[in-house]
Amino acid sequence: MLELTTPVQYVKGIGPKLADILATKNIATVGDLLHYLPFRYEDRLNPRGIAELRGGEMATVIGEVRNSGLFRTRRMPIFQLTVGQGRSRLRCLWFNATYLQDKFKPGQLIALYGKVEQDSRNGELQIIQPQYEVLGDSASGEDKNVASLEVGRIVPIYESAGQGRVTSRWFRRVIRTALENLTPDLPETIPAAVRQRLALVSPREALWKVHWPEAGESFEDLQSSRTPAHVRLIFEELFFTELGLEMKKRQQKAQTGIAFRLDERVRAAIKKILPFHPTAAQKKVLREIAEDMQKPHPMRRLLQGDVGSGKTIVSFQAAIIAIENGYQVALMAPTEILAQQHYFSARRILENAGYRIVLLTGSLENDRKREIRRHIAQGSAQLIIGTHALLEEKVEFARPGLVIVDEQHRFGVLQRLKLMQKSGEGSDETNPAEPDVLVMTATPIPRTLALTLYGDLDLSVLDELPPGRTPIVTRRVSDDRSAEVWDFVRKQVAKGHQVYVVYPVIAEQEERELKAAIKMYRELSEKVFSDLKVGLLHGRLDSELKDQVMRMFQKCELQILVATTVIEVGVDVPNATVMVIEHAERFGLAQLHQLRGRIGRGAAKSFCILMTGGKVTEEGERRLDAMVRTNDGFQIAELDLELRGPGEFFGTRQAGMPSFHVASLIRDRQLLELARREAAAVLAGPNDEISQIEISRALAALRMTWQQSYGLVEVG
Ligand code: ADP
Ligand code: MG
Repeated sequence: MLELTTPVQYVKGIGPKLADILATKNIATVGDLLHYLPFRYEDRLNPRGIAELRGGEMATVIGEVRNSGLFRTRRMPIFQLTVGQGRSRLRCLWFNATYLQDKFKPGQLIALYGKVEQDSRNGELQIIQPQYEVLGDSASGEDKNVASLEVGRIVPIYESAGQGRVTSRWFRRVIRTALENLTPDLPETIPAAVRQRLALVSPREALWKVHWPEAGESFEDLQSSRTPAHVRLIFEELFFTELGLEMKKRQQKAQTGIAFRLDERVRAAIKKILPFHPTAAQKKVLREIAEDMQKPHPMRRLLQGDVGSGKTIVSFQAAIIAIENGYQVALMAPTEILAQQHYFSARRILENAGYRIVLLTGSLENDRKREIRRHIAQGSAQLIIGTHALLEEKVEFARPGLVIVDEQHRFGVLQRLKLMQKSGEGSDETNPAEPDVLVMTATPIPRTLALTLYGDLDLSVLDELPPGRTPIVTRRVSDDRSAEVWDFVRKQVAKGHQVYVVYPVIAEQEERELKAAIKMYRELSEKVFSDLKVGLLHGRLDSELKDQVMRMFQKCELQILVATTVIEVGVDVPNATVMVIEHAERFGLAQLHQLRGRIGRGAAKSFCILMTGGKVTEEGERRLDAMVRTNDGFQIAELDLELRGPGEFFGTRQAGMPSFHVASLIRDRQLLELARREAAAVLAGPNDEISQIEISRALAALRMTWQQSYGLVEVG
């Protein structure tokens, strides 16, 4: 009998070679194999009769091979196969498919799946490049048995593996074998109360039916993964992930933290630094943060606010609470430019009040670094602003009280955890408490992602922009109209405004047909705008130069800044009102939105001009279209998630996306919400709802989803 934990090699038909191929699909155990779900199903119970097919429909057809052959046209070889059912015939074509030449024999039974088309010349129906499966030799008897898995039922279709060496058909058989030999008493893992509330089917039933649906099953539910069997398996996976996150959150909350005092003196200090009236949203969020900080447990809070919503000042206020209580604050930014910028605003806003602020970035001279580290270790530095350099081993804090991580989407969970440990280690016996952590992000994270990615954090949202902002006008134009665009830029500059011009690459060699920042900088500064002051900023400049350019732009000593996406996050120059993005079709949606967020920060009307050069893909069209249509970061994020899928959503794997076996964060949003609620309910309920086994399983699930994204991450 097979258990879910049995290695796949013990399933009949799987040798070491096949096991290796399965390993590439993360299939190591029988459980993994059984959770390798079909990506679609074919209705071979009611396959379509050839005579009744209509042009334009997707159809499964089962028929007999009549003849096949390769013929060559001037452009390419085409493989043609004719399939028959009685007197009806259907033609299938594959382009450039010499490899199919000896594949089929007349008389074979074959299943085809594809889009039916009507030949424009003779009106005959055909399927171009259908997916196919040879079901057997209808003449010989030996395949009769096999065929019973392949026809006369709803058949599961699996993604093949090992470059096609392991086919859908193979999976079908081996999964069937595994199911037949599976131990009859699979343990139920979901707490009884939850199972009853949601009327979930048993694990055994779910596994059988998800692979081998019964004849009466709704075909639509199958294709959309919404049968009771699917729901059970998907819910289970999400439930244990959420349970793990929820437990982690509770563990963190149970730790000893610092109970900051928030008396009149501290309140006055917070108010004193404000250069403007905070928005209602800023007040609300600060209240949430302050409440957390006063509790004797560590704060773990995510502050989410669209670009320009004013997160910085809120984080400074939180910093003051910690500093006034005698603690140190670390503020980490993802780029040097951003760290610099925070440093300047911190000095502008906080230094008058007498706070001691230092900047620690990787590019500083070693001597200088050493000196700053000494200030940090001695406690004379109160607000420490930096990049990843703050994560370096040698940085020790005298009294870490609060860690602020800005623009979190650039950091992985890995780094986030490392930082927390780091500041923990920096503490000594007299200060064993865990510091508070405030994570800030401008990426409007769709709720589903926030729940999984940041499920261990509490969430605050800045959902209001500071007053006086006029919405940004976004237009797209083809780059053969660049003369008009430059005219417009010139007019804006004449009004005293500043302009960003962004390119997808730094130097030409990188991608031939793309305009590059360096070359266009020359063109723009020497020809188009030779009378204006134009600067250049990209990632390969050394940081002193970067710094200098940024500062000149900030002081309006440069009117036009030609840049790459280094300016994407955080840069704040309210006088800049135009953002021109060349080859806008090449950028991701989130990136375009971030770039656009660099303008519209002052009272003057701002313009985002998306220039396209060359062919725009269909997906590119949708991105540009979304940008023109809306300024709403959440809408853009939802669409971005749909277009790119969760893995790519943040641009890198590093972002810490958990990966799931059966769940999909896009398709299963509602189930995720449900899982979240149920997990919280279970933990809040009486102890007997959740056993120790379930707890360890939840932690294991959490560890696994994170491990697959990262390698090793210590959680729980
Ligand atoms: P982000 O949330 O993108 O980090 P910032 O903190 O950089 O946004 O703030 C964007 C701009 O808005 C800054 O110039 C900041 O000084 C300004 N700002 C923030 N809050 C307010 C407010 N309540 N009233 C007026 N201006 C504000
Ligand atoms: Mg910011």
